[in-house]
Amino acid sequence: MSADAAELRSLTRRFLAAHPPATTGREDFLRARFDAGLAWVHYPQGLGGLDAPRALQAVVDAELEAAGAPDNDPRRNGIGLGMAAPTILRYGTDEQKKRFLRPLWTGEEVWCQLFSEPGAGSDLAALGTRAVRDGDTWTVDGQKVWTSGAHNARFAILIARTDPDVPKHRGITYFVCDMTDPGVDVRPLRQITGEAEFNEVFLSGVRIPDAHRLGEVGDGWKVAQTTLNNERVAIGGARIPREGGLIGIAARTWRERPELRTQDLHQRLVTLWVEAEVARLTGERLRQQLVAGQPGPEGAGMKLGFARLNQEISGLEVELLGEEGLLYDDWTLRRPELVDFAGREAGYRYLRAKGNSIEGGTSEILLNIVAERVLGLPPEPRTDKDVAWKDLSR
Ligand SMILES: Cc1cc2nc3c(=O)[nH]c(=O)nc-3n(C[C@H](O)[C@H](O)[C@H](O)COP(=O)(O)OP(=O)(O)OC[C@H]3O[C@@H](n4cnc5c(N)ncnc54)[C@H](O)[C@@H]3O)c2cc1C
Repeated sequence: MSADAAELRSLTRRFLAAHPPATTGREDFLRARFDAGLAWVHYPQGLGGLDAPRALQAVVDAELEAAGAPDNDPRRNGIGLGMAAPTILRYGTDEQKKRFLRPLWTGEEVWCQLFSEPGAGSDLAALGTRAVRDGDTWTVDGQKVWTSGAHNARFAILIARTDPDVPKHRGITYFVCDMTDPGVDVRPLRQITGEAEFNEVFLSGVRIPDAHRLGEVGDGWKVAQTTLNNERVAIGGARIPREGGLIGIAARTWRERPELRTQDLHQRLVTLWVEAEVARLTGERLRQQLVAGQPGPEGAGMKLGFARLNQEISGLEVELLGEEGLLYDDWTLRRPELVDFAGREAGYRYLRAKGNSIEGGTSEILLNIVAERVLGLPPEPRTDKDVAWKDLSR
């Protein structure tokens, strides 16, 4: 079935009548919403969707919000919803889709991303975590780093080296890793904000069934491109209203606190306001492109702009607030469940925004992607393209 807006509105109203939010438990409501195809309407039937155009999700959401229905608190499971789910949908077997997507969407199972390693960040394909096959099981050994939310996660998307004898991009395989496996050791990493939002993860003899492999053996790099393209959209492409996000917070302070204003800050605020609006409209264009298929490399440009704007706006806010901007809660070693830009103070926003130009690909790497894959400029020289991974110098 491919529904139109009127059909979806009426379907949602019938669903609400059968599951009144006031008297239905949150988990039951979310599971039933998934089963009714109203979770992400563009997903296939039976997997939380109705094969409907993605843009129609807004119709469903508006009805549910007006009825006071609980949502799945998407910020708690950004990696699951934004990155793991589209990858499972594209490369997963029917059993994998059935097993993973429902509890992922409802938030009962939170996901994290085991990609980066101490020696493989920007050059992710150089990764050294090994997965060795023994019949129907793989044994994984290695170390991952900067793993956001690993301390809350039930599952992880993991890429590991399965063939060291071929060039680095070709010997990687993509898995789903159960974070409750006894060989998974999650240790907090303290960051510039003082808290430990991310972790280093040691994998020692972790047993992964072959049934938890996503895509073909050796195809992990290709599968990971779906994750990474979606990651850039997930980080930089959230739908926000005009004057939403960080520019909204800075503009509100500006309006409410006339005593803080200077001519120079006014000029900068207006310039950033215009740039934020251009970025927001670019995000809308990108989402329309998403309606037509998977996100392409254009997401890199979106994320690039998002990182620069977040850093400049949060810097302006700290300057605007003067001494007050330097006040900071003690978040030392707290383990937050989510990154909450709006709910925290200016100092937190300023410090946390520094990570925006590193996470999901550094701004330098994103510039390379835009240059090569959007503008068609000549690629960086790659001398290791045809060298077996085991022969690379490390
Ligand atoms: C807040 C945050 C959350 C994160 N969450 C996760 C997560 O959940 N899971 C996960 O797997 N990873 C995560 N990461 C890791 C992130 O993806 C890496 O930090 C990032 O890819 C950069 O890798 P690196 O830190 O090893 O830096 P490096 O790759 O060592 O880069 C160091 C510097 O060199 C520059 N550089 C490197 N290569 C080039 C080049 N070819 N051209 C120009 N400049 C270059 C970089 O831009 C950078 O400035 C997170 C990072 C942050 C900051």
